[in-house]
Amino acid sequence: MSSATASKKPGKQSVKSGAKSPGKSGGPSKAPDAFTHPIFDELGLPGDPNNLYRQTVGSMLQAADLMNLPHQLKIILSQPKNEIMVHFPVRMDDGEYRLFKGYRVQHNNALGPFKGGLRFHHDVHLDDVKSLAFLMTMKCSLVGVPFGGGKGGIKVDPYKHSKGEMERIVRRFTAAIAHQIGPDYDIPAPDVGSNAQHMAWMADTYAFLSEVGGRQPEAVITGKPVEFGGSVGREKATGQGVVDTLAEMLPEIGIDMKGCKVSILGYGNVGSWTGRILHDRGAKIIAAMDHTGAILNESGLDAHALAAHCQKVGGVAGFRNAESIDKEEFYSTKVDVFVPAALEQMIQEPEAKLLNCKVVAEGANAPTTPAGERVLEARGVEVLPAILCNAGGVTVSYFEWVQNKTCQAWDLEHVDSLLNKHMIRAAAKTREARKKYKCGLRTAAYAAALERLRAAYEIRGLFP
Ligand code: NAD
Repeated sequence: MSSATASKKPGKQSVKSGAKSPGKSGGPSKAPDAFTHPIFDELGLPGDPNNLYRQTVGSMLQAADLMNLPHQLKIILSQPKNEIMVHFPVRMDDGEYRLFKGYRVQHNNALGPFKGGLRFHHDVHLDDVKSLAFLMTMKCSLVGVPFGGGKGGIKVDPYKHSKGEMERIVRRFTAAIAHQIGPDYDIPAPDVGSNAQHMAWMADTYAFLSEVGGRQPEAVITGKPVEFGGSVGREKATGQGVVDTLAEMLPEIGIDMKGCKVSILGYGNVGSWTGRILHDRGAKIIAAMDHTGAILNESGLDAHALAAHCQKVGGVAGFRNAESIDKEEFYSTKVDVFVPAALEQMIQEPEAKLLNCKVVAEGANAPTTPAGERVLEARGVEVLPAILCNAGGVTVSYFEWVQNKTCQAWDLEHVDSLLNKHMIRAAAKTREARKKYKCGLRTAAYAAALERLRAAYEIRGLFP
């Protein structure tokens, strides 16, 4: 079997090379409401149906229409409040300077300060960041934390820079956006390509700029190392939340977590923690794929050893006790649960047709395109939507922020049990909305999130 190397731009390419993307292959989508909502024209949103921002906002608008959300809320939530773009020079190790581009999008703060991660990736674009910021507003609302939504990033490949270069890039970016973030205004966190060390440099830089630091400057960012204001349980929190959601939802689908078969796309923070926790709870991780390749062991991979292998060599390829498979084989491996935990738009129509699972648990943000979702729906696959399934990360980020603000350090048992309560409540709200609006889980999750936002706007009113 051949070893698989995933496409460089997975979000925008489907599994079959040469396969046309959903919007381009068959002209306009078969679900006109997701792609042709009048608000797209009113706000001048991108016309391309493959545009991630159009897809994510389109899904939300379906829920908004179903629940008769007032028009003013639809337009407010269909665009971010602020879109910040910065360019900043950084000295490289060879003495030359390079100019970097950074983003911070602040989508909505009706429920509390803007909150959301920072992506360090060579292929970050404004519309991706806008989509992710929008999803954060929905996620924070659904999971019941007092935050709004934001997201940011730097167009950089963190793996191609020395530690010293990355430190200078991160610190210079922090300085460039220092007046736009703050512990009570906008609180970033890690995302793809960024880690606890980067957050520590950001917190330190922000604290150093004392005139903007405030009294708890380290609360400006979450996902910090435990030694410097981080919370125990934050590193694994998103994976923990995926597992908590599965524990809530699997029984009604008739799947026992113990012994169930799982495949995982992306074995970074979210994928590897989901894998390790599921493994510890008796599930069998039989296949995994990342940017280095895909592997399979029908008797079960050792999820902990695989995480250690990825730490050491940078990906799943070459893991012992597993055979190398190609992408098509990976997607079509028969499992109970498939966990996408890599990048956006990786489950398009071709992947959805290949998938051989009962449940898709979205660890990644927006991994399923509307066209992919229609295929899954037609095939009876239950999709646990990202704004529910991966909300564990922001929930424990909220706990970290509370601990910073109140000078406390909670223990892991407390963090885990509080997280579990938030996840159970969010799952219950999603199920209630599904019953109330007679819709699928994604629309239901949006509806539950929108209900809290609607209530807040009704009470707050709109200035002036
Ligand atoms: P990460 O950088 O730790 O891991 C990303 C993984 O995706 C890696 O295993 C990488 O190899 C894989 N990947 C990248 N390109 C790929 C390709 N072309 N084909 C296959 N695999 C590829 O990132 P993460 O923090 O685990 O985030 C993963 C997803 O989860 C993202 O969508 C992110 O927005 C979302 N998310 C993360 C958190 C968090 O707390 N880290 C919280 C909520 C949502």
